[in-house]
Amino acid sequence: MAKRDDTVFEDETRPVAERAKALLEAVDGRKELKRLGAWLQAQPEALRAAVRDEGNRRGADLPGDAVDWPGKKLLRRALAREEAARVRTNPIARDEDFTCEYCGREVTQAVSTARDHCPYCLCSKHVDVVPGDRAESCHGQLKPVEVYTKDGRWMIRYRCARCGAERHNKALLDVDPPDDWDLLVELSAKEGR
Ligand SMILES: [Zn+2]
Ligand SMILES: [Zn+2]
Repeated sequence: MAKRDDTVFEDETRPVAERAKALLEAVDGRKELKRLGAWLQAQPEALRAAVRDEGNRRGADLPGDAVDWPGKKLLRRALAREEAARVRTNPIARDEDFTCEYCGREVTQAVSTARDHCPYCLCSKHVDVVPGDRAESCHGQLKPVEVYTKDGRWMIRYRCARCGAERHNKALLDVDPPDDWDLLVELSAKEGR
């Protein structure tokens, strides 16, 4: 199936960078990944290093010692960034400590769920396309504009101060610390505006 490309990456008279590029393009589905990974593993380090570098050029973020990885893993990871960009539609649960950029308070992890906004001022930041992916380049302040209930849950509607995008996050009440109750109540009075 990839016979046409095989001649390029197998051709030892060509530069390794060109062969690495052809090899990554030849990887087509799991079967090819396994076969070409086994082939790559038997090749000199220069070609494996070129595959690593080509992967990094495409945004894969491979470490220096990736040349010592099994060939299949090296190929799969070298292509990981493109694959992730293509198939990512599900949220990533990202729960981290952070310092709120808007009120300056230290915020701890929610632990049982992902903390996606500050519990003290309720502000968030426009950094995700899909929750947790950090793929949004806007980075504007998401300001809470309204609190409402949906299916028995308290939800916060946000509007980005920079681009105007709207986001809806769950209010976090059963975590430590919980969202500021007085602020939630104040914003819920604006419901239906
Ligand atoms: Zn805050
Ligand atoms: Zn924005």
